[in-house]
Amino acid sequence: MPYNILVVDDEKFNLDAIRRTLRSEKEYKLYLATDGKEALQILNEVHPVHIIITDQRMPGMSGIELLQKSLAISPNSIRIILTAYTDITDMVDAINKGQVYRYLIKPWKPDELKITLKLGIDYYNAIEERQRLLEELKQKSELLEKQNIELRNLAEIKSRFLVVGSHELRTPATIITGSLELLQLHSENFDENQKKILENAINGAHRLNNILETFFEMVKLDAQTSTFTLRDVSLKELLESILQRVEVYTRERKIHIHVQDENDISIHVDPKKIVLVFENIISNAIKFTPDGGQIFISWHDIGPELAQITFKDTGIGIPKEELKRIFDTFYQLHNVNYHTSSNYKFMGGGPGLGLSICKSIIEGHGGKIWAESEGKGKGSTFHITLPKAK
Ligand code: ADP
Repeated sequence: MPYNILVVDDEKFNLDAIRRTLRSEKEYKLYLATDGKEALQILNEVHPVHIIITDQRMPGMSGIELLQKSLAISPNSIRIILTAYTDITDMVDAINKGQVYRYLIKPWKPDELKITLKLGIDYYNAIEERQRLLEELKQKSELLEKQNIELRNLAEIKSRFLVVGSHELRTPATIITGSLELLQLHSENFDENQKKILENAINGAHRLNNILETFFEMVKLDAQTSTFTLRDVSLKELLESILQRVEVYTRERKIHIHVQDENDISIHVDPKKIVLVFENIISNAIKFTPDGGQIFISWHDIGPELAQITFKDTGIGIPKEELKRIFDTFYQLHNVNYHTSSNYKFMGGGPGLGLSICKSIIEGHGGKIWAESEGKGKGSTFHITLPKAK
């Protein structure tokens, strides 16, 4: 496709000179006009006009006036003006206002005209390319916006699923557990096999209840209906109550938990919620550390207001790229087929909700939680910051 060039000059002699100069340039198609009116007419009919070259001094409409008017009809055209030395201040002004790309001083040299046109065409193409890229960018961001809405809808469905799961399933699950336990009270005539089946059913029902409780906790935190009852508590006392509960498991699995024994700290938290968090972090550390491993719990002040608590294990570790994602709802890194029904057996699994609940609780206290690991087999470290008592 040739480049369309509109040339405007009231003197025929000048039009002919331009035509002669450009005769050998086959990539240009020339449109000639002898005044502004005629030029505007051509601009209305020919699309696109890549370049407009106009004389400045013409009867009726000046070159700058014509170029100003052409902006509305053909905004992308490159505007070049032919002028005498005396008009220079007007030209500079027009260039500064962005109405004119270049001016050529009369009498122009043929090569100068050719080079100016070539540069003009390059400029035109660059502008078109930029517009194309902008348009592409706009479409991509619209697509992203659409996908964002879809994701938000999915998140909404997920939340609703949790609501249904926690509210609607809790009651029947409690009934099942209660009924099975009642049955167990009257099971003296059952044979060993029947008793074993009943015991399995009760264990399963308890596990189901635990999962639903976790769902329920999640929903409450998600909906921000959960309120915190804050008070000052000893960090050591909180930890000790948990460690007592897990002792039977760590003893069985020969896992040693070392707790910093100096400098107890008083933290300002909701103890019930924070126990839930610590319990989850410790139970994960136990679950993901092979028998005979070690867990270290320590803490220190960071500034006058916050304490940092660290849980380090010698377990299976977490790949670097997963360190952030483990805090996502339902995220589990390891093969769910490994799951056992225990919260403390090696590689035992929950529903993948624990850490996301921990994150909500910790952030609800104005703290932070994050994980570090040198990778597979190199252990994991979880850090938590919480407000200190005043
Ligand atoms: P789950 O219910 O599976 O325990 P969590 O949210 O508590 O869910 O943990 C998410 C995932 O993070 C776990 O499935 C596990 O893959 C990984 N993870 C958590 N703690 C540790 C740890 N101490 N060592 C190795 N991996 C861990």
